[in-house]
Amino acid sequence: MSLDENKYSSLIRRFFRYVRIDTASDPESLTFPSTEKQKALSRLLADELREMGIADAYSDEFGYVYATLPSNTAEKVPVICFCSHIDTSPDCPGNGVKPIIHENYDGRDLVLPDDLSQVIRLSEHPDLAAQRGNDIITASGTTLLGADNKAGVAEIMTAVEYLLNHPDIIHGDIRILFTPDEEVGRGTEKVDLARLNADYAYTVDGETLGSVENETFSADGATIHIKGVSTHPGFALGKLENALKIAGQILAALPHALSPEATSGRAGFIHPTGVSGIQEEARIDFIIRDFTTEGLVEKEAILQQITDKVLSGFPGSSAVLSVKEQYRNMKEVLDQHPRVVEYALEAVRRAGITPKLQSIRGGTDGSRLSFMGLPCPNIFAGEHAFHSKQEWVSVQDMEKAVDVIVNLASIWGQPVE
Ligand SMILES: [Zn+2]
Repeated sequence: MSLDENKYSSLIRRFFRYVRIDTASDPESLTFPSTEKQKALSRLLADELREMGIADAYSDEFGYVYATLPSNTAEKVPVICFCSHIDTSPDCPGNGVKPIIHENYDGRDLVLPDDLSQVIRLSEHPDLAAQRGNDIITASGTTLLGADNKAGVAEIMTAVEYLLNHPDIIHGDIRILFTPDEEVGRGTEKVDLARLNADYAYTVDGETLGSVENETFSADGATIHIKGVSTHPGFALGKLENALKIAGQILAALPHALSPEATSGRAGFIHPTGVSGIQEEARIDFIIRDFTTEGLVEKEAILQQITDKVLSGFPGSSAVLSVKEQYRNMKEVLDQHPRVVEYALEAVRRAGITPKLQSIRGGTDGSRLSFMGLPCPNIFAGEHAFHSKQEWVSVQDMEKAVDVIVNLASIWGQPVE
């Protein structure tokens, strides 16, 4: 395969350039962005966009990149935005990434040269079965690859370049947004939506070829504060009600069927994430997840029932359950704007792929953006096995992702009668 022969000649060179820049974010950091080094990529992307002729490309003090590919139609059509994150997961080393192309994949094991114990096997990565004949990009064995989400970044950049070079493709204003700190849950913290001024957006951060994700979990945090009855243990007979044991009984009474380890697909869960205390008082923290708000409320009611039942055996003690909203399923917003997902599915079809509408057992920048007023489903970037040394992406899937972005720009560029 020659990099110069294909339709998007800059795509893989861009991707390699971006993954070589260490942009790991840091969950412990109190600064924004969480790591200063992310801004090196922000600046590079703003420079490259300006070199392409995007005059307003700008990277701000927080590491966000904003840019506009100007409309080439006289019609008034919605402004759409494509968004990817520039940071990589802190869970796996991200410095010194050496990307490698394994040409013409034939189902063989992919042995990574800098650590021969890192072997990407078809049996452990079933999505590879669909990649026969394709060219697979991996890291060299000692780092993650960073396809999550630099594949998306490279795809958006390449699509912008392609649209600039093909003015016959009619589109409205296209905004480009690159965000820092998505991997530490802070990607939308300092985003300026007024400056962005888009009607609809797409994150390009999904996994499998053809996937469009329009649902995320709805999420609450819950805490039970327990007050027991404390006494000197030598004189405790008939009096002591140990808050630690009350906490233990509540934890033991949680239904296994509603745990993360027993659920998949569209089933939600109650998951204790921390417990602390002394005999006088204790606290248990939970995360509650479901695809509907009603499902969250049901699970919180179950938690209340369990707490009441356990406390009935401790007449001198009390326990208070408090619930805090974390984020909501983006579908609640997207259902009010059906075109956003319909157009994504159509853009995938026009790329010659059967679209797969999917839900994510987690949250995304898109779910937060949707509730901030910018409806934002997620489309595939082709990234697989992310946050690991065995992360991979195929050249061909990345090219298809560029096709889908170009198609979306074109579909939104047509005025609706
Ligand atoms: Zn990502």
